[in-house]
Amino acid sequence: MAYVITDACISCGACAAECPVEAISEGDGKYVIDPEKCIDCGNCAGLCPMGAPQPE
Ligand code: SF4
Ligand code: SF4
Repeated sequence: MAYVITDACISCGACAAECPVEAISEGDGKYVIDPEKCIDCGNCAGLCPMGAPQPE
């Protein structure tokens, strides 16, 4: 399991700074999560102002 960032993302970058395993990077129009790195901690979902990261 990994979290995925939906199209609600406004590319603020807040989640990338708080991911403990640096799984989040800036993508094309939104941020993206590397499913190979994500440990499902939920930090990104908890801090995102848009509710963009969702458990897959
Ligand atoms: S915190 Fe939310 S809106 Fe900001 S970059 Fe991450 S997913 Fe996108
Ligand atoms: S759920 Fe945790 S490990 Fe996965 S991308 Fe979000 S902050 Fe990083």
